[in-house]
Amino acid sequence: MTLAEAAPQALNFDCETGNYHTFCPISCVAWLYQKIEDSFFLVIGTKTCGYFLQNAMGVMIFAEPRYAMAELEEGDISAQLNDYNELKRLCEQIKRDRNPSVIVWIGTCTTEIIKMDLEGLAPKLEGEIGIPIVVARANGLDYAFTQGEDTVLAAMAARCPTKVVESETEERNAIQKLLNFGRKKDEIAATDTEYKDHAPLVLFGSLPDPVVTQLTLELKRQGIKVSGWLPAKRYTELPVIEEGYYVAGVNPFLSRTATTLMRRRKCKLIGAPFPIGPDGTRAWVEKICTVLGIEPQGLAEREAQIWESLEDYLQLIRGKSVFFMGDNLLEISLARFLVRCGMTVQEIGIPYMDKRYQAAELALLESTCNEMGSPLPTIMEKPDNYNQLQRIQDLQPNLVITGMAHANPLEARGISTKWSVEFTFAQIHGFSNARDVLELVTRPLRRNQALANLGWEKLVADV
Ligand code: SF4
Repeated sequence: MTLAEAAPQALNFDCETGNYHTFCPISCVAWLYQKIEDSFFLVIGTKTCGYFLQNAMGVMIFAEPRYAMAELEEGDISAQLNDYNELKRLCEQIKRDRNPSVIVWIGTCTTEIIKMDLEGLAPKLEGEIGIPIVVARANGLDYAFTQGEDTVLAAMAARCPTKVVESETEERNAIQKLLNFGRKKDEIAATDTEYKDHAPLVLFGSLPDPVVTQLTLELKRQGIKVSGWLPAKRYTELPVIEEGYYVAGVNPFLSRTATTLMRRRKCKLIGAPFPIGPDGTRAWVEKICTVLGIEPQGLAEREAQIWESLEDYLQLIRGKSVFFMGDNLLEISLARFLVRCGMTVQEIGIPYMDKRYQAAELALLESTCNEMGSPLPTIMEKPDNYNQLQRIQDLQPNLVITGMAHANPLEARGISTKWSVEFTFAQIHGFSNARDVLELVTRPLRRNQALANLGWEKLVADV
């Protein structure tokens, strides 16, 4: 028998207690109600959930958002009130006041614990009030932060139509409509020939509209036509999905949606790294091209050009170390991009690691570290924030990417921090947004430079 040799250069996976800070997944309503313009989100929970949303969404709550809390009372919990009638009353009121095309029910910890059968109630009520009701269990018991979007999109994937009537085709593909805006019919037909002949491709993941346009155009340069996005701008424009369609994700936290599309809708998943940073974007486009049998054109030059434009920011971070405490599942992609920028990643905390869905991203992280001569970081699933703080104390990283709970206390101890939640709301996908990612990463470092030599970077209270 020979001893198996441990591969010296393999990523190291570890798992802690899951005692860490993150946003509750119900926060996804904040960006999804803005993305899906004709939707209404009803969070069925308690005051705890309401307080969280009200605070986390900041100024947005003053803009008459299309979300509301169905606050459970004592009578709901002890089953003295009838869940169905209560929800019907609320949904009728929503229909009267806002007339949405879809109502999304967000299940919370409480509905889980009292086993409220939302999935059972929804179809009946849907039939009665005549508005589709989509149920997503985005609760804090099972998921973290961005995974909330994953549960909603997985539920919506089941609602995408299989066939569409010819007259509606143009209506449904809003992004194509946008690209064709102001053009005549024959001109549109002419541009259609610019596309290569390939199997239909649907992309999934909620991104701001400008980024959707950028990525769609990026693929158009390669002759690839995006048949639709899940989600679209409106619920009524959800893309047609038929068996055998290709699907590709734009974000690392969409593993349930990917699974639903593969298992229930019989789609073929293109497993690619995610289009974050110029390296990720190139790898993403390349992989899609390869799978669809298209020779990618001019990507190397395009990537090189973007890197060149980032040089001023790269000078600031090259050789510096970064520690991800982990709370939004974007960590692997961001770490891979930062290693390519010349940073050393000491630890990648992550709430949940789907090694299958993120396989291509993990492989790219590994090869990037090897190419850059950077040590392979430990990937810490379900981290323990307390232990992480001890490690931060020992390692003294140049930058810690973390939540608001630890940011100020770390700053007071002389450790620079970047608030992790900003990465989920900023535009970080595609070639042209690489600069925005570095804008965020370098901000604390630039501030430190500006305030250097004042002599009071450590101001922790003496106890
Ligand atoms: S963790 Fe549970 S109780 Fe807390 S806000 Fe989220 S869903 Fe509500």
